[in-house]
Amino acid sequence: MTAPARARTRDGATPERRVRVGAVTIAPVVQFHYRVDPLRFFPDLDVGAIDEDAWYWRPPYREDGMLVIDIGAFVVRTPQRTLLVDAGVGNGKHRPNPSFDDRDDHWFAALHRAGVTADDIDTVVFTHLHVDHVGFATRFDGSAWVPAFPNARYLTTAAELDHWTGGSAAGDRARLGDYIGDSVLPLRDAGVLDVVEPDLRICEEVRLVPAAGHTPGNICVEVSSAGRRAVFAGDMVHHALQLAFPERSTDFCVDRCGASDARQELLRDIADRDVLLFPAHFPNATPGRIRTDPAGGYRYDPVEGEPL
Ligand SMILES: [Zn+2]
Repeated sequence: MTAPARARTRDGATPERRVRVGAVTIAPVVQFHYRVDPLRFFPDLDVGAIDEDAWYWRPPYREDGMLVIDIGAFVVRTPQRTLLVDAGVGNGKHRPNPSFDDRDDHWFAALHRAGVTADDIDTVVFTHLHVDHVGFATRFDGSAWVPAFPNARYLTTAAELDHWTGGSAAGDRARLGDYIGDSVLPLRDAGVLDVVEPDLRICEEVRLVPAAGHTPGNICVEVSSAGRRAVFAGDMVHHALQLAFPERSTDFCVDRCGASDARQELLRDIADRDVLLFPAHFPNATPGRIRTDPAGGYRYDPVEGEPL
């Protein structure tokens, strides 16, 4: 029997910081700290065969036998634009997962401390439409779920929207709750959801990169400015274990082989270069550089950034 997942609310120990990529500033905004039994992510993992001292199997990546899978979003500010990449689990939403159900996190307060209000966000990009990436996209106005960022366009791809609103995802929607109904469809109904090409250039510094696999319309978000580069990988790298074993996909990947191929291509592209990777769920959403490990796979060199 696997242990249950656990959630811990963000508190004073949750870092608040920003990272600069040329003229672009990026602030991770963690919603809460999430701990999951490794076998929920990797059901065929031979846990007993893993070296307890392996870097990806120690804190901060694993604590008390649980994988650290923190949840939140990223604010990206260019000289002209203010974007949000992904949108966490959200607050006040009914979910079968008790750790996601009816949350009341002070995420907007953390957003404000990052120097941004809901009104400032002009673009919300979803790397994909899983339940833990769309939650803050809408808020309850007393009678209905409405867009939470009143001045924003929300971006997804056709393959992604078609998958999650179609019959092939019915089982997942039953398991995860009707999150498409309360967090995505209200955007479409309000006319603020843009179905875009997976290689869209959003502005001079920010573009989308197709990366199907984890989900059918999965994308990366790439930032380039003044010769510096960063990649928001969403769930392509869910946990540090997948840096050491890049071929390994999770039980949440819709196409495990496709996800494995996309992850390995991304890591080959950015390894041993000055490219910052922002995985969606690393501890405290800490970005880092990817380095080839002579022992196999890759290592992670975290970048803490400046305190806010
Ligand atoms: Zn996720």
